[in-house]
Amino acid sequence: MTLAIYPGSFDPVTRGHLDVVFRASKVFDEVIVAVSGQSRKKKFWLSETERKDFIERCVSGMENVRVEIFDGLITDWATKAGGSVLVRGLRAVSDFEYELQMASMNRRLNPEIETVFLMTQTKYSFLSSSSVKEIASYKGDISKFVPAQILDDLVAKYPRLDA
Ligand code: ADP
Repeated sequence: MTLAIYPGSFDPVTRGHLDVVFRASKVFDEVIVAVSGQSRKKKFWLSETERKDFIERCVSGMENVRVEIFDGLITDWATKAGGSVLVRGLRAVSDFEYELQMASMNRRLNPEIETVFLMTQTKYSFLSSSSVKEIASYKGDISKFVPAQILDDLVAKYPRLDA
């Protein structure tokens, strides 16, 4: 039984993230989407519970996928959860250097855990949570970028982006 962990900020989850979750759900027996908790480095738009709740609504049809919040080192957290694989998404070459560095560091921290990269569909390769937030802050249309199930509730939170 292989349990894969897909860690990220998901602030907010996009159609690109979901594409990766779907691919992972076909390759691995079980998948946990691990939402990062509060961070000293990053300031999030949505709380971790909101980010988790939005993903849960989008993955309810995928039986082997669940969503949890993690804190601390992902390698430690994955080990405790019984996971042996970390999944990360690759969009373009520009993701590669950062991801290579992180995967190499995680391997030093725990050689038992493999990082596996999945590529999204080309139509999502330009898509990032930060561009969604940028468009949303100007009240632009994000319907093509975020899952339909969460669109209205995300839009309702726009005012907080101006704060
Ligand atoms: P992090 O802050 O950990 O980079 P993100 O939520 O931005 O968290 O991304 C989590 C993972 O999903 C990363 O591996 C990132 O490269 C990947 N990812 C982000 N957007 C997309 C997309 N549009 N298609 C495929 N993978 C993506």
